[in-house]
Amino acid sequence: MEIKTVINPFENALKNFDMAADVIHLEDNIRNHIRLPERELTVNFPVRLDNGNVISVTGYRVQHSTARGPGKGGVRFHPDVNIDEVRALAAWMTWKCAVVGIPFGGAKGGVVIDPKKMSMSELERVTRRYTSEIAFMIGPDKDIPAPDVYTNSQTMAWMMDTYSMISGRTVLGVVTGKPISIGGSQGRNEATARGTVFTIEKAAKKLGIKLNGASVVVQGFGNAGSIAARLMFDLGAKIIAVSDSKGGIYYPKGMNPTEVSIHKELTGSVLGFKDSEKISNTEILELPCDILIPAALENVITEDNAGQIHARIIAEAANGPVIPEADAILHDRGVFVIPDILANAGGVTVSYFEWVQDNYSFFWKTMDINKYLKEVMDESFDNVMAITEKHKVNTRIGAYATAVAKVAEAIRLRGVFP
Ligand code: NAD
Repeated sequence: MEIKTVINPFENALKNFDMAADVIHLEDNIRNHIRLPERELTVNFPVRLDNGNVISVTGYRVQHSTARGPGKGGVRFHPDVNIDEVRALAAWMTWKCAVVGIPFGGAKGGVVIDPKKMSMSELERVTRRYTSEIAFMIGPDKDIPAPDVYTNSQTMAWMMDTYSMISGRTVLGVVTGKPISIGGSQGRNEATARGTVFTIEKAAKKLGIKLNGASVVVQGFGNAGSIAARLMFDLGAKIIAVSDSKGGIYYPKGMNPTEVSIHKELTGSVLGFKDSEKISNTEILELPCDILIPAALENVITEDNAGQIHARIIAEAANGPVIPEADAILHDRGVFVIPDILANAGGVTVSYFEWVQDNYSFFWKTMDINKYLKEVMDESFDNVMAITEKHKVNTRIGAYATAVAKVAEAIRLRGVFP
């Protein structure tokens, strides 16, 4: 019997952090301080189901660092959520906000439920009770949640309303990723994918790859993945395979992602699209292609399959899809990895724009949002490449080194209290 070791994403986040800390010769006192999260909360609460039964639900909120500003990070609803995953996701938010230079720290939340098995009214009760449990810890100048896997703008509307009811006033800036009519931002829904595509354009230019006609594979056809597929299709790329939690489809002629989205909307999955061939979520990663976009969950590229990845560019729309041992293999094989803390930072960047708009009660046009997003992503890509080349490391360590140096500078300047 093969015994698989469970991959702990927080340990992987720490491995990358330690490598970056070595590269920038980070002093021990700061290294020891930012390795671990500042604050962690676990909550257990009852939720009444539609049939009258009451279940017990566990949730988490972790603030990894608030050295550069309030905590910022999404809330994930998933049956496998655990404290180490939330810690890793919170740490990645710290590094991500630092990479793109927005004045936030890193935080993340998770609720251990299977949202696919719950009705809308049950999800609303889970969301409202979870929000009330973590309410003392969040706030527009403390910690600002947002959507993540299996949460969306409706979830954020319930969170904002619950927090506002507790506060006795409407507090739009407590969460981002809200619907436009209640303080959401133009372009937020597409921002993660748009940011990923801006980084792909930069990487392709650097490597001399033409995106018109380039073949693209997307694992995870949700918010980030489906929109990234559509934006790549709009640039003339050929989307040859996509997948969701039920499996993948291979369509070598190239599919129109909008048609796939309609099919998924109608049937609940990408499976069964037109004349596509069924393919597993493991096989999809190993297809020969120019650009591979992992956009589902973490730990999908490990030392077991890194040698079989045939993509020229991996653009990490997902958080933590490649483990550190796989990074070394990919680097040796010449695969260009655009690391998560850079590739998917467009989401938090437009979340920052949303928060600024809420605080000023002055809302910007889509054109302006996308222009500022492009400026931030292009500049961040160039900064990461400069550090990567300066230290002769792989792109992930280059991105971490960029981020860790900024967080360390904030800690040094703020000093030690008391
Ligand atoms: P989502 O819930 O909209 O979509 C997730 C997709 O992944 C769904 O299509 C689902 O079917 C699929 N999926 C789930 N388990 C899978 C599996 N085992 N194999 C293949 N596919 C699977 O979530 P999202 O917001 O698009 O997030 C996807 C990834 O992007 C996550 O890693 C998330 O942390 C990251 N991310 C999202 C944002 C954002 O703004 N939404 C920002 C930064 C990073």
